[in-house]
Amino acid sequence: MIRIGHGYDIHATTRGNGIVLGGVEIPCDLALRAHSDGDVVLHALVDAVLGAAALGDIGRHFPDDDPAWREVASSRLIERAMRLVTERGWSLVNVDISIIARAPRIAPHAESMRATIARLTGLPAGSVSVKATTHEGLDALGRGEGIAAHAVCLIADVS
Ligand code: MG
Repeated sequence: MIRIGHGYDIHATTRGNGIVLGGVEIPCDLALRAHSDGDVVLHALVDAVLGAAALGDIGRHFPDDDPAWREVASSRLIERAMRLVTERGWSLVNVDISIIARAPRIAPHAESMRATIARLTGLPAGSVSVKATTHEGLDALGRGEGIAAHAVCLIADVS
């Protein structure tokens, strides 16, 4: 059996000294406003992976009012989500991620994100896709007031 999962996340941007997207530190004059590192890419991916297995969402497993999860790097969250899904007999097949950001430019960092996500999920890099769009100046995302990400994944029953 195969199942599909989708996840979405958005965080507001502020002036700052850099952001983390897809587990990759990107030096820039922005920061993401969040209880955590604000990594919308990994947060969307966690929701996609949990969603594919109908295991709820990131807020259920990692509540941001729980001090245990508040300052934890999002890489720990995706590792934990992967464990929850694989424990139930599922295997991740591929992930496809779309980042919506006016700034910073994502393209120079996309390959690092692919490699990082591959390492965190156990997928070959060829099964991890990271794409980006600017929103063409439209709406809050187009004005750069936030950064968002969509993630889609496929899981397969390995039994
Ligand atoms: Mg988030």
